Amino acid sequence: MNFGDIFKNFRKQQPSRDEAPSHWVKCPSCNSLMYYKEVENLAQVCPKCKFHMRISAAKRIEVLADKDSFVEYDADLIPVDPLGFVDKKSYKKRVDESEKKSGKRSSVVSGECLIGGIPTQLVVFDFSFMGGSLGSVEGEKIVRAVHRAIEKRHGVIIVSASGGARMQESTFSLLQMSKTSAALKRLAKEGLPYISVLTDPTMGGVSASFAMLGDVIIAEPGALIGFAGQRVIKQTIGAELPEGFQRSEFLLKHGFVDMIVQRDKMKQTLTDLLTYMGHQINTPAASEEPPRRRKEDFAESAADPMPEEEQAPDEAPKEEAVSQNKEGENG
Ligand SMILES: [Zn+2]
Repeated sequence: MNFGDIFKNFRKQQPSRDEAPSHWVKCPSCNSLMYYKEVENLAQVCPKCKFHMRISAAKRIEVLADKDSFVEYDADLIPVDPLGFVDKKSYKKRVDESEKKSGKRSSVVSGECLIGGIPTQLVVFDFSFMGGSLGSVEGEKIVRAVHRAIEKRHGVIIVSASGGARMQESTFSLLQMSKTSAALKRLAKEGLPYISVLTDPTMGGVSASFAMLGDVIIAEPGALIGFAGQRVIKQTIGAELPEGFQRSEFLLKHGFVDMIVQRDKMKQTLTDLLTYMGHQINTPAASEEPPRRRKEDFAESAADPMPEEEQAPDEAPKEEAVSQNKEGENG
């Protein structure tokens, strides 16, 4: 996977501040000039041609999670440099620079939130941190999110935006592919849903592991999705490649993704899917206890008294569940 190409494309697709007056954004696809607020209000989707620009993890969470419901976990996990890796710069320096730029120590933000009222474990990649690359911290955050989901009986949603495995961590980053896949297998065995959302770009070791393991795989329109870059494949197989063969639309046509969903419809689609897959909406009305049978209902069979569990309020098990969760967070 050629990281240089991904970064070059990334720069190309960002609205250029030099080309446009401040407060104005130029669409990388149709070249329209738009007031930045207009684009921001549409979560960075061009109002003219519907081009989906890349967005930060924070913006993604704002778009998907119910207001003020997101609680971040594992923000204190930071990458170590087990190999003392140096390419043009040291790995440590790259992390420091990325932190200065993005304010983060990892390309993943993970946590718990409500989506359409449904408690969900949400993991979001941020391409602006080292090309959204998958390192040990990112893998660990994903696995911990899956474990929280198993403990709390939640579904998991991972929104990918990544150039692939983080080469500065070498084997340690490649190991995250099997580690996350194994955790998701445990989630599947528990019968809990995992929805994978692929955004521009989802490449390399990310697309070759958890991103393609969703019970449902959703892509944003026009997203670049694949393993190796087009140039590498062309050089390897020595053949012409079909136009747009690594874009969402081509992949949908060939059965690689299940659906393409526009950003403004994503939250409702995820809500519908989680509901369909058996997850209840956590509104006060839905969490109320089911209507109890009245004593009169049992009048006909007087010899058959009301069962014990019908009489006692079932608050105790709920408290127990909460305290278990608290312990789990420390473990
Ligand atoms: Zn446009």
